[in-house]
Amino acid sequence: MSTLIDLHTHSNESDGTDTPAQLAVKAGAAGITTLALTDHDSIAGWSELVENKPKGLSLVLGAEISCQTEEALSVHMLGYLFDPNNHDLISSMNQTRVNRITRMEKIVEKLQAGGVEITLTEVYAELSEGATLGRPHLADAMVRKGIVKDRSEAFNIYLHNRSKYYLPDASPTPERAIKLIKAAGGVAIIAHPFASLRGKIISAQYLETLVGAGLDGIEIFHRDHNQSERDQLLELSRRYQLIVSGGSDYHGSGKENRLGENSTQKSQWERISEVATGFSVVQG
Ligand code: AMP
Ligand code: ZN
Ligand code: FE
Ligand code: FE
Repeated sequence: MSTLIDLHTHSNESDGTDTPAQLAVKAGAAGITTLALTDHDSIAGWSELVENKPKGLSLVLGAEISCQTEEALSVHMLGYLFDPNNHDLISSMNQTRVNRITRMEKIVEKLQAGGVEITLTEVYAELSEGATLGRPHLADAMVRKGIVKDRSEAFNIYLHNRSKYYLPDASPTPERAIKLIKAAGGVAIIAHPFASLRGKIISAQYLETLVGAGLDGIEIFHRDHNQSERDQLLELSRRYQLIVSGGSDYHGSGKENRLGENSTQKSQWERISEVATGFSVVQG
């Protein structure tokens, strides 16, 4: 049987636009055989995803953990198949979600000072209850007010990582996130590490220190990596025998990314499921 393994997707429990139930149905319809839900700093969508699992779709518990290096670079760490009751990991994610609120208040203040008429209340109106707050919700509020036409335009003009309105979210270091994921029996794979179009990226040398800190793998097959970035990462992954993954980073209608547009090879997925001890795959 052919496989289509997509290990990077978001629901409206963070900044995706589909409910977990809608995501489950769409993934099945798109021919995906194994799907990981990786909301930002949250696993709140997991039970609804499982309850709506179509036949033939295997489901993988995951999260995309926001991290910040000591130089304040933003890094995303994908965690898979960790124990969802692990106190330290869950409280770290909870803390990041709280920190995202203060960060948003400051970003909105900066925008207001810059003459952009947007309020915190308008941002909150775009967020599902309990979901992880992020810049995409601010973008949605700007779209609703007619300031920009879509999320992309909001990011291109106001919200990108080099913008004067940008602030990083207070979150653990990548080293700490790796430690937390692995202590919870999970697998730690760095998301889109060389996606230079998003802003300043980490160096190859720093990536090597993360390997020393226990990093299990690298997400290489991602739309934001160009060919030369993929080649450099493939070379690194071979040198350190790291797991290589891929995923769509689907956000519903919030981004152009289509389910299954990037995927993970079966042999690499098997390495992930074999290394994990914290949680089991919900088999299709
Ligand atoms: P935050 O978590 O608040 O730092 O926001 C980061 C999120 O914004 C990421 O998950 C991206 O998917 C999303 N994002 C970044 N650039 C864009 C863009 N140009 N269009 C839509 N979403 C974007
Ligand atoms: Zn996102
Ligand atoms: Fe990401
Ligand atoms: Fe993502």
